Amino acid sequence: GAARGWVGAWAQETGAARVRDVFAQAFDDVTADLRVWSAPGRVNLIGEHTDYNDGLCLPIALPHRTYVALRPRSDSLVRLTSAQAPGEVWEARLEDVAPGAVSGWGAYVAGVAWALREELGREVTGFDAAVDSCVPFGAGLSSSAALESSVAVALDDVGGLGLGGSDAGRAALATACVRAENEIAGAPTGGMDQSVALRARSGHALLLDCRRGLDPAESAEQVPFDLETAGLAVLVMDTRAEHQLVDGQYAQRRDTCEAAAHALGTESLRELADAVEASDDPTGTLTVALDKLPEDVARRRVRHVVTEIGRVRDLVALLRDGRVGEIGPLMNASHASLRDDYEVSSVELDVAVEAARVAGALGARMTGGGFGGSAIALVAADRAEAVADSVRAAFEREGFGAPGFLLAVPSEPAGAVD
Ligand code: ADP
Ligand code: MG
Repeated sequence: GAARGWVGAWAQETGAARVRDVFAQAFDDVTADLRVWSAPGRVNLIGEHTDYNDGLCLPIALPHRTYVALRPRSDSLVRLTSAQAPGEVWEARLEDVAPGAVSGWGAYVAGVAWALREELGREVTGFDAAVDSCVPFGAGLSSSAALESSVAVALDDVGGLGLGGSDAGRAALATACVRAENEIAGAPTGGMDQSVALRARSGHALLLDCRRGLDPAESAEQVPFDLETAGLAVLVMDTRAEHQLVDGQYAQRRDTCEAAAHALGTESLRELADAVEASDDPTGTLTVALDKLPEDVARRRVRHVVTEIGRVRDLVALLRDGRVGEIGPLMNASHASLRDDYEVSSVELDVAVEAARVAGALGARMTGGGFGGSAIALVAADRAEAVADSVRAAFEREGFGAPGFLLAVPSEPAGAVD
């Protein structure tokens, strides 16, 4: 339950029953063709602010999911209700959905239908849908991609598009969801969140190669992530702190990276990361490149991106070697780099990470874009409560609001529930 900030994941049947109820309350004529789909939130184990630099990241799907009960219509109307936006039914006609033309949370949903046509040339009819979710909102756990992805698999099924049955098809759905979020909801995010929501596998982390134009077969790899055998758990610590200045800061980081890559005569910072990786003298190679950049800020931003891509590679190598208990120092180094070089941490994130380590976490770092949101800690499974207690006490001492906690068990991708 919600005791002391713990946010439990619903069993899939529970989520399905709840969302059917939400549907029945808004659109009282429940019929047999109403079905339910769901999609997970996510945490990123490592590889932060690398996706828009053509880099690598390593997210896992959470057991916390967004549920959608959906029924196609014979006209082009879209009618939506959500347990998380009570008291209103969001409505639009599909032909009226376009960049800048719709607003509110329904943009994430209607945007998917729009993107299926724009990106994939697939027509869908209108629909009635209800949403309910146990993914915390705005916590950096990607409730937005969970919403888009649940709708994408629903529309794929009811429209008979046949994309959800293969990884390549799911990669295409992920691209459509990214366009929905960027162009219709107006949020300039990279592709990590939608890819993991649609392409994850339970018991695995997903190694994503974010270079543009890659084949689906090359852009994602399943990496076994067996916490249970090692007696470990990934504790997610939601600071529940207001995100501040996120939009402008995110765009600034992107621009700095792009300008630096250009100044170095490369297409993206990934090229530099690969050159550093291939070099006999990685530190020397990185230093030579950084010395070409006149601005200290740009040098630090580039150093973060290049070293972070290296840490993704190192962490994946440890996992493949069955050494999950040894990934902690890489998580700690990632946090330091994000805090000091990339400057996207916050006091709440730093306090959570520090308190987790003091209580015995093997490693801890902020996760997601930063400036608030969540941090993760690798802990002995039987220490998760104690680490959470330590973080809660530290937040109280600092006068922060109470944090939330959940356990990140690598879970199923988006799909039909019933
Ligand atoms: P995050 O993805 O980190 O949770 P975002 O700001 O990207 O945060 O996405 C949150 C937004 O997504 C909400 O403000 C809302 O518009 C939409 N959203 C996500 N889940 C739901 C839901 N269950 N019901 C209604 N809107 C939702
Ligand atoms: Mg989001």
